[in-house]
Amino acid sequence: MIDFHVHLDLYPDPKVIAQEIDKHRMYVLSVTTTPSAWKGTSALGYGHSRIRTALGLHPQLAHERIHELPLFDKYLHETKYVGEIGLDGSSNLKPHRDVQLHVFKHILCSCSLAGGKIMSIHSRRSATEVLNQLEIYPHAGKAVLHWFTGSKKELLRAIELNCWFSVGPAMFRTEKSINLIRLIPKERILTETDGPFVQLNKHYIYPWDVNKAIIKLAAIWGLSINATEIQLKNNFRSLLIQST
Ligand code: MN
Repeated sequence: MIDFHVHLDLYPDPKVIAQEIDKHRMYVLSVTTTPSAWKGTSALGYGHSRIRTALGLHPQLAHERIHELPLFDKYLHETKYVGEIGLDGSSNLKPHRDVQLHVFKHILCSCSLAGGKIMSIHSRRSATEVLNQLEIYPHAGKAVLHWFTGSKKELLRAIELNCWFSVGPAMFRTEKSINLIRLIPKERILTETDGPFVQLNKHYIYPWDVNKAIIKLAAIWGLSINATEIQLKNNFRSLLIQST
């Protein structure tokens, strides 16, 4: 199993979760929301060979943490993974739109100069602008759009731009989202949880809860659970190969 977008550092007991991840023998991308969290969060992965940590600056925090961009650039060479980054067009964040864009452009530029990274990207209510920026910075790396909620038209454009998608159990709650997932080539899909920001039955979602997304994907693809897991693992391999 693969959880390609989880905030390991934001669980109350991240070390216990890291041990459970090992027990499940699953691959995890632990994303961060601020560059100042990088050191502590990447340390959580020490000794856990299937946990990778991404360096990020969440768009919802861009206006508060823009001064951490030099720190972002300082740590960038330490990892191949960048996230959570992106844009958020929610109405309460409208006043910070320009700051968000500045931060996102800076990060894409730094990733380009670093030779390309694997990026976990947030695009809530801003998919068109995210895609515009990815077009402007084609050498920033492989874009994995996390929990995509844009329109069908935006999705088709993202597929055209070679974006990847990470989908979690929460995305199967609406018919609109399920219909989007049906349109994504199965070779471009990875699973995620976005834990602990998602709740399942009034509990935190955990990385191993990606199995709930795997079951849904198996139904959509008309494959067995086992064949679906193999497909997803091959996708992950192929993403790594394409990014080297
Ligand atoms: Mn997230």
